[in-house]
Amino acid sequence: MTVDYAKKTVADVPVDGRRVFVRVDFNVPIDQNGHILDDRRIREALPTIQYLIQHGARVILASHFGRPGGKPQPAYSLGPIAERLQTLLGQPVEFVPEAVSSVAEAAAQRLAPGQVALLENLRFYPGEEKNDPGFAEQLAKLADLYVNDAFGTAHRAHASTEGITKFLPSVSGFLMEKELRALGNALESPKRPLVAVVGGAKISSKIDVLNHLLPRVDRLLVGGGMANTFLKAQGLEIGRSLVEEDRVPVAKQIISQAGAKLALPIDVVVADRPDPTALPEVVSIDQVPTDKMILDIGPRTADLFAQVFQTAGTVIWNGPLGVAEIPPFAEGTLGVARALAQSKAVSIVGGGDLVGILEQLGLAEQMSHVSTGGGASLEFLEGKTLPGVAALEDKA
Ligand code: ADP
Ligand code: MG
Repeated sequence: MTVDYAKKTVADVPVDGRRVFVRVDFNVPIDQNGHILDDRRIREALPTIQYLIQHGARVILASHFGRPGGKPQPAYSLGPIAERLQTLLGQPVEFVPEAVSSVAEAAAQRLAPGQVALLENLRFYPGEEKNDPGFAEQLAKLADLYVNDAFGTAHRAHASTEGITKFLPSVSGFLMEKELRALGNALESPKRPLVAVVGGAKISSKIDVLNHLLPRVDRLLVGGGMANTFLKAQGLEIGRSLVEEDRVPVAKQIISQAGAKLALPIDVVVADRPDPTALPEVVSIDQVPTDKMILDIGPRTADLFAQVFQTAGTVIWNGPLGVAEIPPFAEGTLGVARALAQSKAVSIVGGGDLVGILEQLGLAEQMSHVSTGGGASLEFLEGKTLPGVAALEDKA
C-alpha cells in the first residue's frame, strides 16, 4: 500500500553549509503579560534544530504566533520566544524583526554554519495566510532548503507551509515525521485490535472522524457531550444536556452501521450546571433526571472502556469524555487516561482540549504519542490530505 505520509526528512538530504528555512510551530500559550505558559511546542522542535546545528546548517526559523491579522502587532512578536529558544538550545538565537525584505535577507546571509536565527511572526504579513506566491517566493529567497516541522499548521495551505515548497526542495522535520508515523501507522497498519475513543463537545465537529474511523476500527467508544446526541437517538432521556437535535439522524445512522463495535456510556455524572460548585451525582443511563445535565461519563462506563483497553493493540483517543476543565467532571477522563496509561496498548492522543487536560493531570507523558496538532490531527483522522504534508517530497 502506498502511504502519502512517507516523506523525506532532513536526514535524507545534505544540509552541511546550506541555508535551511525551518517552518516551526512556536504558537505557544501566553498570559496577559506575555509570559510563556507552556513551552512544549518549542521543546518539541529542538531535535530538528539541534540536528541541523550539528550538521553545519545555517538555520532560519519561522513561525506564526496568535492572530495578528496580517499586520504587525507588538503583542504577537516572536522576540520573547527567541529568548526562550536561546535558553533551551544553550546557544545564541538571533531574532530578526522582519520575516522578509532586505533586513531578513541580510540576517540570512550573515549566518555562519551552526548558527540560528528566528524571523518575526509570519502572520504580520497578509500574504502568509493568503498563500500569496509573491510572499512565498520572498521567504524562499532566504534559503536553499525548506523543512516543515509544524505539524499543527500542516492542514493549512499558507505561504510558509505550502506556497514556499514551489520554490525550494522541501522535506519534513523530525517532529513532523514522528506525528505522521504515529497517526499514519495507527490508521494504516495498527497493532490490532484498534480502538477509537471519541469525545468532546459536539458530534457535528467530529462526524467526518467517526465516519472515517468506523470501518477501520474494531471498537468505537463514545463519550463527552457528543454522546448525548447518540443517547437521544436511542430514545433515552438526556434532560437539559448539550445535544444537537439536527444530528440525531446521523447518530442513528452511525449506530446502525457500527453495530456491536460501538459502546456508549452506560452511566453518567449529572448536575444542575457545569460549575465547580455544582453537586455531581452518578446515575444509570436510563435514570437521567429531566432537569439535569450530563457532564461526564460515570465510573461503570470508565471501567467498561478500561476493560476494552486491556486487550487492545492500539487506542486512538480524541476529545475529553466530560467537561473535564471543571474538576468535578474530570473523573471520567482521568480514569480512562489512567487505564490507558496502564494498558499495553499503543496510545495515540490528540485534540487541543484533551491534550491540555491530560497535561494538567500529568498523564500526557504516559501516552505513546501525544499529537501537537489539534486541527491537523483531526483532519488526519478524517482521512483528509494535509496540504503542508502533501507538498513535501516523498521518500524514495
Ligand atoms: P478536543 O479539542 O480535545 O478535540 P473538543 O473541542 O471537541 O475536544 O471538545 C472539548 C469540549 O467538550 C470541552 O470544552 C468540554 O467542556 C466539552 N464537553 C465534554 N463533555 C461534555 C458534556 N457532557 N457536556 C458539555 N460539554 C462537554
Ligand atoms: Mg477543542
